[in-house]
Amino acid sequence: MSDKGILIVISGPSGAGKGTICAELRKQMPNLVYSVSMTTRQPRVGEEEGISYFFRDVDTFEKLIKEDAFLEYAKVYDNYYGTPKEHVMNLLEEGKSVILEIDIQGAMKVKESYSDAVFIYVVPPSLDVLTSRLHGRGTDDKEVIHKRLSLACSELALAHRYDYIVVNDDLEDAIERTASILRAETCKISRNKEKIQYIYKRYSNEQQENH
Ligand code: ADP
Ligand code: 5GP
Repeated sequence: MSDKGILIVISGPSGAGKGTICAELRKQMPNLVYSVSMTTRQPRVGEEEGISYFFRDVDTFEKLIKEDAFLEYAKVYDNYYGTPKEHVMNLLEEGKSVILEIDIQGAMKVKESYSDAVFIYVVPPSLDVLTSRLHGRGTDDKEVIHKRLSLACSELALAHRYDYIVVNDDLEDAIERTASILRAETCKISRNKEKIQYIYKRYSNEQQENH
């Protein structure tokens, strides 16, 4: 028997560096599983089906909403995005920790049902930096970037609903802080009941053997 895995929710404005940080965390922490979301938006150059997202049309997505197939879903920048439920729940039961990289609406829905999830908000140090990162990434046209920037300000006002904030200024440092948050969370007593019982039994056995 093992304790359940941790549900980790990472949000922040588009271009904040969530994907970059998560990719590095997965390299450092092989037990972390990244939940692949479903979306109705068009794939960007280089994005792969089933790895970046499951790309589906609106009809399919809406059918799955009716079937209650999502842990959460939201409409972000005119497209649907959602977390397939069953896979995530199975992983958590198996003791694996799962990262959801989702928007703030989805994060708040997760909070209603999974209050012991860990909520991390990633922000760039300024709007100017965010603007240049979005342009530098080169994946979105001007209109899309404009939409994303205007949402960034209004959403920042809701950051206090998260447990942790990571200002992504220096990338290495931001990765290290995020990894530290996750390491600390895995050590919480409340997340280690099975492990404590196991250690307790071992201590008891050792005590008996030694007498
Ligand atoms: P998000 O997943 O939050 O939309 P990305 O991870 O795609 O953001 O990052 C947006 C762009 O900014 C990418 O081109 C990425 O390489 C770059 N980037 C991320 N973090 C930093 C950083 N700390 N310093 C400089 N560039 C960064
Ligand atoms: P992008 O189009 O840049 O990949 O993502 C746009 C936004 O959608 C980001 O804020 C991202 O975190 C969010 N997003 C990605 N997947 C999901 C999801 O499954 N659910 C929700 N609610 N948001 C998501």
